[in-house]
Amino acid sequence: MRRATVDGNAVERLIAREIETFQARTPRCRQILERARRVLPLGVPSTFQEHPPYPLYVSRGQGSHVWDVDGNEYLDYHLGFGSLAVGHAHPRLVEALSERLRRGSMFAMATEEAVLVGEELCRRFGLEMVRFSNSGTESTMDALRLARGVTGRDLIVKIEGSYHGHHDYVMVSVKPGPDELGPLDHPASIPLSTGIPAAVAAMTLVVPFNRPEGLERALREHEGKVAALIIEPVMMNLGIVHPAAGYLEAIRRITREHDVLLVYDEVKTGVTIAPGGACERYGVQPDLVCLAKSIGGGITIGAFGGRRELMEHVRPGDVAHQGTFNGNPLAMTAALVTLTEILTADAYERFERQEERLVSGCQEIIREHGLPMYSTGLGAKGCVMFAPEPLMDYRDYLRIDKDLAYLHWLYFMNRGVFMPPGLDEQWTLSVQHSDEDIEAHLAVFREFARDVTAA
Ligand code: PMP
Repeated sequence: MRRATVDGNAVERLIAREIETFQARTPRCRQILERARRVLPLGVPSTFQEHPPYPLYVSRGQGSHVWDVDGNEYLDYHLGFGSLAVGHAHPRLVEALSERLRRGSMFAMATEEAVLVGEELCRRFGLEMVRFSNSGTESTMDALRLARGVTGRDLIVKIEGSYHGHHDYVMVSVKPGPDELGPLDHPASIPLSTGIPAAVAAMTLVVPFNRPEGLERALREHEGKVAALIIEPVMMNLGIVHPAAGYLEAIRRITREHDVLLVYDEVKTGVTIAPGGACERYGVQPDLVCLAKSIGGGITIGAFGGRRELMEHVRPGDVAHQGTFNGNPLAMTAALVTLTEILTADAYERFERQEERLVSGCQEIIREHGLPMYSTGLGAKGCVMFAPEPLMDYRDYLRIDKDLAYLHWLYFMNRGVFMPPGLDEQWTLSVQHSDEDIEAHLAVFREFARDVTAA
């Protein structure tokens, strides 16, 4: 295979050109930003929404498309950071949610729909009981409290470079700098934010992905003190990093041997890589599963669940779990319609087919141009990884070509394809994406590949 050298100066020049184009296309966004910065730190409700050159303000979405406030239309592969496998304004959701609004959208009491959604999630993920929350963050926080409550232990283990939401327990070694990492056999626990008590960060141990021996060592060194390992079975906050063959089986065996609960964070993988997420796709069952994003069809939701004997600890005097909006009627109606009417077996077949075309199409273009990258994906999720060889863990990720990744994002945005920003994210497909949408994505990637190798 031919391997092109991508000239760093040419990439820099292209980035400057594309930023100019971006600015010329989005004057209204800049105007709003000025006003927004007076009331919202960085001008946005969530720091993830801020990305250079500046955040876009979106006005509407329909099907596989979104529009910004400047009127630019985009084919949407961002899909709310992977929360919209149903696509925008799905007619069945519009109908069901309108009807729900007319009948009242909030009681802070259970509805029958909550029971039906609970049953469906149990069926899909091999669980016996679930509880609802309002976000991925709440789900991982609640699952970890449950794990600590059940085991009576304080320590948790997480994977270096993984993101599990913005509560203190897990905001540790999310994206540590190369100088902070510590040795591979004893990675440091580095808080991502000020305001996280050192004592809390110290209760979160860190191990590398895809190295069962690292987990084994940590559990041996802290025998009897670790409540749980929390892990994304496929890392989807480093692009996509797959579990090596046998890795999930190994961590299942090791956690069992040390009486440590295995908690899957399936906030992203959940109903996107298979009807029953990674639990189904890899056939290795954890003790607890955390869900959010796409299970709610675009309405705020979270859930966590597991075996009855664990979940029954949720009761007064034992593990606390509550929330005014837990299982609210809008979220439950949206989830029920999403899970039972939209994300059907046909939808998953279609995701697989379109994903195969998109990944193999990107691979072909990469090969043709000799780019130092690869494309990978599964189910409705995929990406181009800006490294020549498949990544194994976070330390590999540090070697990714950040400038090329940024240029790639700018190219897509300026050519009407909305992509999640940064190196960490991946595209998501929705049931409303057409085969033409896949070809349109490939056309932009082809142009990018041609331009970065033309210099
Ligand atoms: N876990 C994972 C794997 C995630 O990707 C995210 C969000 N990107 C979260 C948890 C947190 O979810 P939320 O933003 O809904 O709190």
